[in-house]
Amino acid sequence: SKLRVGLLFGGRSGEHEVSINSAKAIAKALSSETNATKYQLIPIYIRKDGCWQAPEIAQAVLESGKPLSTESDDSVGLWQFPPSVNEVDVWFPILHGPNGEDGTLQGLLTLMQVPYVGSGVLGSAVGMDKIAMKTAFKQAGLPQVPYMTLTRAQIWSNSCVFPKLGDEIEQTLGYPCFVKPANLGSSVGIAKARTRSELETALDAAASYDRRIIVEAGVSAREVECAVLGNDNPKASIVGEITFNSDFYDYETKYTDGRAQLLIPAPIPPQIAAQIQEMSLSAFAAVDAAGLARVDFFYVEKTGEVLINEINTLPGFTAFSMYPQLWEASGIQFPQLVDQLIQLALERCQ
Ligand code: ADP
Ligand code: MG
Ligand code: MG
Repeated sequence: SKLRVGLLFGGRSGEHEVSINSAKAIAKALSSETNATKYQLIPIYIRKDGCWQAPEIAQAVLESGKPLSTESDDSVGLWQFPPSVNEVDVWFPILHGPNGEDGTLQGLLTLMQVPYVGSGVLGSAVGMDKIAMKTAFKQAGLPQVPYMTLTRAQIWSNSCVFPKLGDEIEQTLGYPCFVKPANLGSSVGIAKARTRSELETALDAAASYDRRIIVEAGVSAREVECAVLGNDNPKASIVGEITFNSDFYDYETKYTDGRAQLLIPAPIPPQIAAQIQEMSLSAFAAVDAAGLARVDFFYVEKTGEVLINEINTLPGFTAFSMYPQLWEASGIQFPQLVDQLIQLALERCQ
């Protein structure tokens, strides 16, 4: 009989819409000729307010491509799961950002004792928190930009502390610097500061998103990405590059059609590409990722330096996203990629 795949999407995060698009692409891949004989789709949709929705509703969301209003009250309640949840043989969670990519959902699925695609609790949590992630990368000897970590309490405490903090950031990192909430994605809450007053505004804004804040020295570099697939013996894909005209790869550039271009393969020297692949595998191991991850880098062309920026354990998975496109260019078509990820999830439970 067919394996029942619980495709879990939507979620309580700023990347809800991206998740719907990723789920659409995966649902389509599951109905492809080779996969349809093996797998049966059970879509489950998590509304923006966190309510889980049964397959009929989830299917309608996949078809319309639009989030469900949180006002409709056919919901089963936050902690009541639709009965179909019990029919799932393997989960394919494709929720990006907090409450989906950060280990919270992975903990729930672990408790359910049903295998799931992607990293476990630790890998997801370490991959999501930029401070924990950078600590793990540092330990693995991966080069990255200089950075400082702060807390909301430090930023919002009275003005006696703040000038000292500002001075320290200026002396240690200089301008421009990037201020980021530790636990978000899609560039939400991230600002580039070029002056003291921009720095103060950016810190204040970042503190409204998260208790933990990171400030990094800004680099002027090309942005290249590599896809990783596997469990204990993962493989790295060919390397891709993102180009855009805006000041940095911010939310608007990421999600406005035509603002960013993907170059696959990245036009970089082969030895740099090889170095990026090697660093990607070491980053994957450093956070204890599993199944899949996209690892993002800064390539400083002038010096030939490669710095790791971040790992994303549930990267965008739409038909146009970097992760599946990198594998397509490396010889694995979208439906086969989905199949391999499900098989990797089962392998982890043996
Ligand atoms: P997210 O997890 O939200 O994608 P990132 O850390 O990748 O956050 O930052 C988003 C974007 O901001 C990057 O793709 C890059 O364009 C820019 N950026 C972030 N940090 C730096 C930095 N230290 N130097 C230069 N650009 C940066
Ligand atoms: Mg990220
Ligand atoms: Mg990023």
